[in-house]
Amino acid sequence: MTAFLDLGLAAPITRALTDERYETPTPIQAQTIPHVLAGRDVVGIAQTGTGKTAAFALPILNHLTKHQKRAERKTCRVLVLSPTRELSGQIVDSFKTYGRHMRVGVTLAIGGVPIGRQRSALANGADILVATPGRLLDLVNNGALRLDHVEILVLDEADRMLDMGFINDIRKIIRQIPIQRQTLFFSATMPKEIEELASSMLRDPARVAVTPAASTVERIAQRVVHVDKAGKPSLLAETLKNENIDRAIVFTRTKHGADKVVRQLEQKGIPATAIHGNKSQGQRDRALSAFRNGSVRTLIATDIAARGIDVDGISHVINYDLPNVPESYVHRIGRTARAGAEGVAISFCDGEERAFLRDIERLIRMSVPATDRNGQAVAETHSAPREHPRNNRPDNRGNSNGGKNGANRKHRRRPGGQRPADAQGQRGNAPQGSAPHNGEISSVAFMQGRRDNGRKDVRNAR
Ligand code: AMP
Repeated sequence: MTAFLDLGLAAPITRALTDERYETPTPIQAQTIPHVLAGRDVVGIAQTGTGKTAAFALPILNHLTKHQKRAERKTCRVLVLSPTRELSGQIVDSFKTYGRHMRVGVTLAIGGVPIGRQRSALANGADILVATPGRLLDLVNNGALRLDHVEILVLDEADRMLDMGFINDIRKIIRQIPIQRQTLFFSATMPKEIEELASSMLRDPARVAVTPAASTVERIAQRVVHVDKAGKPSLLAETLKNENIDRAIVFTRTKHGADKVVRQLEQKGIPATAIHGNKSQGQRDRALSAFRNGSVRTLIATDIAARGIDVDGISHVINYDLPNVPESYVHRIGRTARAGAEGVAISFCDGEERAFLRDIERLIRMSVPATDRNGQAVAETHSAPREHPRNNRPDNRGNSNGGKNGANRKHRRRPGGQRPADAQGQRGNAPQGSAPHNGEISSVAFMQGRRDNGRKDVRNAR
């Protein structure tokens, strides 16, 4: 097993890792860091929770310590683009943590807060700038920043950028960055649009993939409760009271739904707080810190707001609404079971959501056991059929043809089960996980305590 010391990182960085008690690189780190140190572009198929932030942050810090120079005024040497304000803040924190024994300037530029301070922070230049795309373009358009000195570009959570409609902004930004640069590109999934974006941005990239999905899923005690829509509020209150919960994230499909759930819980005397895109940055920060410090144990979130939030000790994920994109289920339940912990995921499924449940079960290749509201197993009269209509080999876990069968195909459904042409004209039925093969491929599984290296087929790597 590789140790951090074997990777050849500079002493101030390994010292910070010792401070943090990181002993062994995670698979995405072990695979990515040597390529980045060698100056190569990288495509990493990995999601939050795999250690991907350090996978790019450590070699970038190494580059800055090896090539020390002052950033010029109104420029940055490293640009990290991330889709959400929360994730951007966490990336800044990671750079500061790993760079604590170095002199390195890290600046954050996100929307939802006044731009003035960000302009002045950039006036003297930044070694590392972490930004959301919209605010970055504002700063460039205002003349507060030039991108012609970027040496390393990181695009994090590219598929989320696509979901959030940032792709055109990204293209505008890239046009202003020198072609002679190193580019590190991370995405949890590889739909066609993202693949095209990657090939337009990267030069002969090394390809790395990790498989948190199946391994995470296996460590989580999942169950589904079939309930009418009208019965969900009381079921949630009951679950929060009866379960042995340290911290719970409750997912709703819409922002409006999140606020409604908070009100319903408060009426029943259960404190809860919501985090979603309509909240101001201050409200989001307060909600998150209340959740982190344990003063509020229940956070109600939408998928996008929750993406990238790094809070340890989440014992329960509750899907108040089932997601219509099956991959979101895996992202959601992965909020628990972090850092090797085990977690509980409870899904509430009403009649209209049964098709979503079927899609999820195909994706994770297992049935989610149905229980009553007390957690007792019930006969699965409501549950999804177990056959795999587009895949007659339900036991094909190790099948190298994984990308072609229905189980690996991304799709989103509307309530009621019909498959739309595709709500946003994006993604549609693009085959998933079918990473291109024009670069070097290494696929590893991040099992948090259990490794399963050596599966060579990236298409099975999710
Ligand atoms: P990320 O996927 O970057 O969000 O990281 C997930 C979590 O894993 C964060 O809380 C990191 O602090 C932690 N982490 C990252 N790398 C390591 C490592 N090599 N050893 C232990 N913990 C790590």
